[in-house]
Amino acid sequence: MKKPVIIIIAALCVAAIAIAQAVLERRGSAPSQLLEIFDVEGSSAKARLTINGEQIFVTNVFIGEYGIGKQREGDRKTPQGTLHAKRAFGILPNPGTKFDYIRVTPSIFACGDREYYNQIVDTAALHHVCTGEDMYHMGPDYNYGLETDYNSECIYKRGAAIFIHCKGNKPYTAGCIAFDQDRMIQILNLCDTSLVVTVHP
Ligand SMILES: [Zn+2]
Repeated sequence: MKKPVIIIIAALCVAAIAIAQAVLERRGSAPSQLLEIFDVEGSSAKARLTINGEQIFVTNVFIGEYGIGKQREGDRKTPQGTLHAKRAFGILPNPGTKFDYIRVTPSIFACGDREYYNQIVDTAALHHVCTGEDMYHMGPDYNYGLETDYNSECIYKRGAAIFIHCKGNKPYTAGCIAFDQDRMIQILNLCDTSLVVTVHP
């Protein structure tokens, strides 16, 4: 073979490898489990769960009373952007999820105090007198839920207890995302910690 031909073949090989890598990278960047919150209208929005590119459901959810774009504790907004689910919890028994599952008993609180800010704690084990959320008395909202990584640095007053949980009696939340309970069970049982949650207008 002549030298220019070899050079051309070599160049084509390099180009082919680069294209293959780009394709693989793009595939890798698409989350296998995606929960999109969109079509925000006041404290209502739509949610779409997609697993391995297949749409599982589109449903109506409730979000923060004042919509999205959370900045600080008490603004009653849901964070905008990307969230990840960390652990599951519930007043009811584990429905079969792969997530670590915190069974909510009367001593389990979502702490809003400086000491354990933005952490789910067992106040009995820690001997902590908690002024945070008494999770056991939040049902049916907390029949099942997922903890998100919002403010995972636990910066005091930046916002705590941003959860994905079941709908309660009100058509809004204080910043969480609320699903019908059967949808919540589906999310718990079909997903794991690779779940990516996106919140956009
Ligand atoms: Zn506390």
